[in-house]
Amino acid sequence: MISKRFPLCLSLILFYHLGSAQQKHVSITLDDVPFTAWSEQTPLKTVEEANAKILRAINHNTVPVCIFINERPLIKEGETDARIAILKQWLSNPLITAGNHSYSHLNYADTGSSVFQDEIIKGEVVTKKLLEGTGRSLQYFRFPFNALGRDSITKATMQDFLKERNYINTPFTIESSDYLFNTLYQQALDKNDKAKAKAIADAYIKYTLAVFEYFETLSQQQHHRQVPQIFLGHVNALHADYLTTLIEQLQKKGYAFTDLTTAMKDDIYKQPDYYAGRYGFSWFYRWEHDPQKRKKLLQTEPEPPAEIYQQYLKAIRTVPAN
Ligand SMILES: [Zn+2]
Repeated sequence: MISKRFPLCLSLILFYHLGSAQQKHVSITLDDVPFTAWSEQTPLKTVEEANAKILRAINHNTVPVCIFINERPLIKEGETDARIAILKQWLSNPLITAGNHSYSHLNYADTGSSVFQDEIIKGEVVTKKLLEGTGRSLQYFRFPFNALGRDSITKATMQDFLKERNYINTPFTIESSDYLFNTLYQQALDKNDKAKAKAIADAYIKYTLAVFEYFETLSQQQHHRQVPQIFLGHVNALHADYLTTLIEQLQKKGYAFTDLTTAMKDDIYKQPDYYAGRYGFSWFYRWEHDPQKRKKLLQTEPEPPAEIYQQYLKAIRTVPAN
């Protein structure tokens, strides 16, 4: 006979398990709205469909997301109204927080400060107009390529400028090279090779989960707890079809989804970023003061599968330059 205590024990174990799993939080951020790379060249219908699919996934799963917008791709002869309408759909959604990602996605490590300051100002015009009357404002900025300046002086110059304009510089902790998988995914879709597209997407999900596990371990090692993570992905064909899968897999791993403002209230995000340079790596490494230790840590991060990387290198030789 099974003891009546058994179900109680089991439920306590389950409760404990779920309770501890709930300690993990992630905030999802998506860059390059309306569509990553070559978005002016991408047919309007493709851009519209991808954005609609991603918004459906966000609504269906009730996941708060901060988007980072490039306004230059909104302007295209004969399509400007339709492209601005895409942005309007994002900004009218209460789950969405708005962020400026510069006007045309230049790399600040390659431009002068005045050029980049203009990029920030030009990048907020349409978004600010659309946010009028919604009770929300444009608070967040994310540097394209996460290049905050090529040295400490140019970095400080732009941080001061962002502060003057009341922007919060947005960090991330986890990204999983979605641009690389997406290039191959898009290529497979263009060739109508559904089996290949699915294989690429499966590899992306698998790699992303491995990267999450790596940063969970790093969080425990460096900070002795699970810090709220900030995931960086892009608005692209891959996420249009697989954002729900990613969300479901993260839920299975015990993640709860939090908005960026709540995540950034954690003390971890008050730590100084010690890195100055052109590389766009995770803030986990930037919180490390010692450059040698930082370099060692960087080497422990899992790389995308070598086969995928080789295919990507081959693919970009045939893709038009951005
Ligand atoms: Zn970007």
